[in-house]
Amino acid sequence: MSVRGTPRDPRAPLGVAILGSTGSIGTTALRVLGRQSDRFRVKALTAFNNAALLTAQAAEFKPSFVGIVQNGTEPHPPWSVGPECLVEAAGRDDVDIVINAVVGAAGLDATLAALSKGKRVALANKETLVMAGELVTAACASGGGEIIPVDSEHSAILQCITGRPGVEVRRVIITASGGPFREWSAERLESATLADALRHPTWQMGRKITVDSATLANKALEVIEAHFLFGIPYDRIEVVVHPQSVVHSFVEFVDGSVLAQLGVPSMELPVLYALTHPDRVPDSGVPRFDPVALSPLTFEPVRSEQFQAFALGVEAGKKGGAAPAVFNAANEMAVALFLEGRIRFGDIGVAIAGALDALGDAPGGSREAILAADAAARRHVQHRFEC
Ligand code: NAD
Ligand code: MG
Repeated sequence: MSVRGTPRDPRAPLGVAILGSTGSIGTTALRVLGRQSDRFRVKALTAFNNAALLTAQAAEFKPSFVGIVQNGTEPHPPWSVGPECLVEAAGRDDVDIVINAVVGAAGLDATLAALSKGKRVALANKETLVMAGELVTAACASGGGEIIPVDSEHSAILQCITGRPGVEVRRVIITASGGPFREWSAERLESATLADALRHPTWQMGRKITVDSATLANKALEVIEAHFLFGIPYDRIEVVVHPQSVVHSFVEFVDGSVLAQLGVPSMELPVLYALTHPDRVPDSGVPRFDPVALSPLTFEPVRSEQFQAFALGVEAGKKGGAAPAVFNAANEMAVALFLEGRIRFGDIGVAIAGALDALGDAPGGSREAILAADAAARRHVQHRFEC
């Protein structure tokens, strides 16, 4: 892999940028990269704030570029400051792979910049593929870049289909842990607290995706993500609840054979595979698999009627246009309000439904249309709760 037009020594380590290096995926990525220094070099790091952690990461990995979106009062070296640091980091000539581990719509322009320069994007930031799937896939095709998913379910699907033609795939089945409210009644869900929602049974993640996993909005985002990543129609993407999070997803082929990828619930392997795909590296250091210790493995249907955000998100994906952007932005805004203690858990689905009713028919197409739909959906949710 190389930046288009730049010849490179095939044995030289690949340069990696991590956008969102201080977060859950960002710190996992640095742990993985720390063990792979003969293959990869960290060239750029960015974060929203937390200058102290970013300083420590920069001291350890010695990148040539560091960017911070919001300058606090803590003293730090002369970094690039402001939201444009993401695009600067993603477009650098010494960067071959961009790990986009930013949360939310803020990651869009950096993904587009990296793809248009022919780079590999190791994509954790699923929100931007959901809001602007056509734009991102078009930038990928015209720029000669590639998107490799970091999301464990999509990494599993990629690992199952690599080397096989797309026509052989009949169906993908994405697994879902079911979140902390898997067995809660509708009445009990209404009064779920922030602490309840943040108590994820199997994964340690950032706060926004943890809430998305409690509402199952995360699984709707992942259905849309799978549609754009693999070009699979929605009627061939299914979801099954699998509380142990050991089977990361299934792929059914046209002859009826079903492949799955399994592993302990850790993001280290999906992050590593997004860097090395289609190759595998020995002694990766990721936790080993023990089928007896991890058994039993169980599967249940999704209770869509209980998890409004899931059903609304999948419908928005099928509708297309700007509907996925409206779904994503309404969800981001509602989750932010829930995390601030300003709305109840049950209001998240209400906010998404209201925004999609009012704005779901908006056209997509251009970056401007998508950003307008995103902004309108955020305003709609804010007005609804008069925040
Ligand atoms: P997190 O909140 O732990 O970290 C987010 C990172 O992005 C931080 O470094 C933060 O400084 C930075 N950031 C936040 N807002 C920003 C902004 N406006 N501009 C620039 N930088 C900003 O989140 P996370 O759990 O690491 O998740 C990151 C992404 O990966 C999300 O899209 C999430 O859905 C996806 N993902 C996460 C996991 C997981 O296990 N954590 C698994 C699959 C997918
Ligand atoms: Mg996932």
